[in-house]
Amino acid sequence: MEADLIAWLRRTLPPHPLLKLGAGDDAAALALGQGHDCLVTTDIITDHIDFKLDETTADRIGRKALAVNLSDIAAMAGEPVAAVIGLVLPRQGGFELAQGIFNGILPLAEEYGVAIAGGDTNSWDGPLVVSVTLIGRAVGNPLRRDGARPGDKIIVTGNFGGSILGRHFDFTPRVSEALLLNKRYQLHAGMDVSDGLSLDLSRLCAASGCGARVELAKVPISDDARRLADQLADSTTPLDHALSDGEDFELLLAVPPDDARRMLEEQPLDVQLTCIGEFVAEAGLRQVDDRGNVSPLTPRGYQHSL
Ligand SMILES: [Mg+2]
Repeated sequence: MEADLIAWLRRTLPPHPLLKLGAGDDAAALALGQGHDCLVTTDIITDHIDFKLDETTADRIGRKALAVNLSDIAAMAGEPVAAVIGLVLPRQGGFELAQGIFNGILPLAEEYGVAIAGGDTNSWDGPLVVSVTLIGRAVGNPLRRDGARPGDKIIVTGNFGGSILGRHFDFTPRVSEALLLNKRYQLHAGMDVSDGLSLDLSRLCAASGCGARVELAKVPISDDARRLADQLADSTTPLDHALSDGEDFELLLAVPPDDARRMLEEQPLDVQLTCIGEFVAEAGLRQVDDRGNVSPLTPRGYQHSL
């Protein structure tokens, strides 16, 4: 379990005077001086796990590899600055594959003002591995996972579920959105939803030492979630997909009630902001159905297999 490894590392890694925030959040924060903390995040995507090379194009893989890191910098309400790219390529056709990957990385890097500062490549007989490390700059206080308080509203951007139908490649990292919200409103905590709305909400609650109550009727369900539920024709509903599918890459925020009210009235973003419930003192997740019945909500989502 990745979570167990992170927990062990957090107990084991020694402190460092410049490390303000280490492993366990969406990015690390380093106090390098001169006003802005440095944010660092890294993500590895691998053929057969995060994508299927024989079913997609190299440029979409490259775009995704950078986009998932941009989403983690957004999760800290930071500005992305520079990336280093590591590629482990199959021996056959590696050069063309690398070019294709960069054809996806470079337009997104330009759009978000990210310098490609370097990297490394290797070849082997295994699957394609793309590793991107992204350096960012904190603007104001980095948005952390551990600041949610009972009474805060749960605010999300966008719609959830069914990203497997294509949005997991084409999503918009919410960088400018997070910067604007963090500047204009008081945000107590936040993260990006990468592994499933209910699972990531449970992680934010665990980091903050509180629980949450989700109003099911308010969860914004994407058209993809409805299509996927139709296609699968199993017992899963669009709401199930919205609560548990991975790779939405939307923002999940803990916002004090007055700021939440203002934010929802003003709707200052191109993407919709929705309140899906509130944080509560009692640990764990609960769901409220449209008749007001309260029951436990089991966090579900993508669990990393390590
Ligand atoms: Mg994240």
